[in-house]
This record gives sequence, structure tokens and C-alpha cells, in this order.
Amino acid sequence: MRRIETAAELREASRAARRDGRRVGFVPTMGALHAGHLSLVEEARRRADVVVLSIFVNPTQFGPAEDLASYPRDLPRDAALAEAAGVDILFHPASASTLYPPGEATRVTVSRLTDHLCGPRRPGHFEGVATVVTKLLVICQPDVAIFGRKDYQQWRVIERLARDLMLPVEIVGAPLKRDADGLALSSRNVTLGADGRRAALCLPRALAAGAEAVAAGERSPEAILGRMRTLVEAERRARIDYLEIVEPEELQPLLRIEGAALLAGAVFVGSTRLIDNREIAAPA
Ligand code: AMP
Repeated sequence: MRRIETAAELREASRAARRDGRRVGFVPTMGALHAGHLSLVEEARRRADVVVLSIFVNPTQFGPAEDLASYPRDLPRDAALAEAAGVDILFHPASASTLYPPGEATRVTVSRLTDHLCGPRRPGHFEGVATVVTKLLVICQPDVAIFGRKDYQQWRVIERLARDLMLPVEIVGAPLKRDADGLALSSRNVTLGADGRRAALCLPRALAAGAEAVAAGERSPEAILGRMRTLVEAERRARIDYLEIVEPEELQPLLRIEGAALLAGAVFVGSTRLIDNREIAAPA
């Protein structure tokens, strides 16, 4: 596995691979790798000849009261996991200025798709994500880039920005991976502790109950959200940030569930914010 810290070196390595007729697959992450991330690497390996994984804790996607400073970081462990998973190139910018050179003044904004879910609760978050992912795609120029549907809204936002900016890349959304107990894998889970982890299970439980209600014929988002809210509120240590039901492309709230829908939520357990979602398809 080759390790690269500069944009120029990554651009050249990717160019060389494509010149040799090899497809480049790209998996951007913030590190603290887990099996969810590694499933994206596997997907990239299926779809490309050379897999680039980036690790960059992107400051512009964190709000002033968020966990940028305490976000888990462990580069030696991540590098070993990446190598074992078959990553060919690990891109780890030495500092934030590698991607945000002095004097930079440009941001990428994706509207409408960011009106609901995490958008209003994390002002500036998706602008930070869209900006850094655009930069990474321009530097790496992959044939295909893989994102997890754990961060469903993020995946849709990136899919749309690639389309709108006519970037020559295929954006793939890979399935959400859960732990055996049902908790969505997340780098932030390590901050929970055993009690917090038990409490956090109220979110996947509420989403599963919502999906079951739809399967049993309920079509009113309000009724389903009411049941989901009750389940989360039964957990003393959890605080709802939002629970919403939206249509899965434009991410706008649904008045009635017909066809495809996304049940999505965010809860705080202590100071840790967790997100999760379930994709459902109601028979018409
Ligand atoms: P992060 O390091 O949290 O920014 O995530 C990097 C990539 O891994 C994003 O595309 C995430 O959606 C994806 N990812 C994180 N957790 C999971 C998971 N549990 N299942 C699938 N993909 C995930």
C-alpha cells in the first residue's frame, strides 16, 4: 500500500493508473475505520483495479459546538486495516491546508436536498462535506466513488453535486452495515460506553418499528413517527434530534407513504450524536 500526503502526488498516481487502462475506485473517510468503511473498500475493489482510500477529518463540516477536536483519530491502526483490506493508495493529507490552501474562498452548496433531516440541525455541515468531496474528486479523478447509505443524505447530496457539476465519476451508495446488536456502525460508537450503547439501540429499534408499521399497512407518516417517538422517548438517556419520513431522492417530507420512503433519525446519547435510517418500499 502506497501512502500519499500531497494533492499533486495523488493526482499523478491516479493519472498514471488510468493511463495504464486501470479503473480507479475512491473511498473517502474521516478514519477511525470500522467494518462499515471496509465494506466500501470491498465494493470499490469489485468495481475498480486501483483503490484509493482517503482519511481526512474535514474541519469545515463540523459546527463550532461539535466534536472536531475529540473526533477519534488513529492513523497507524487505520493504515494497517486499510492495507489488510486491499487498499492500494492511502491518501492522508498532512494538514488541513493541503485541501484548504491559504486564501481559499470557495464553497460548494447543494440546495433543496439539504432542507430537511441533518441539514437544518447542522448548519454548514453539508456545505463542508460537498466542498471537501468536490476537492477530493477533482484531485483523485476516480472512475467510481463509494459512499455508505448510513449517511443517506450525504450520499444523495454527493450524487447530485457530481451530476450538477458534471464530474466524470460514478457515485455508488453502498448498504448500511450494523453491529450484531443492530446499532449502525459508526466511528462515534467508541465514545458511548456500555450503558450508552444500550441506550443508543432505541434508534434502530424505533426505525425497525416504523418499518414494521408500514409493512402492516400504516400509511400515515404522523402515526408512524408517533410510534417511533414513543420508543425513543422511553429511553431516558436518549434525546431526539429529529425523526423524519422523506421521499428518497429529493429528501422532502411525505404526506402519505406510497412506494419508496426513507425513515431517518438522529439522537443524542450524552454528547454523542448518532444517525440511522431504514429504506422502505410500501406496496402502492
Ligand atoms: P466517515 O468516516 O464517518 O465520514 O464515513 C466515511 C464513509 O463510510 C461514508 O461514505 C459513510 O457513509 C461510510 N460509512 C460509515 N459508517 C457506515 C456504515 N455503518 N455502513 C456503511 N457505510 C458506512
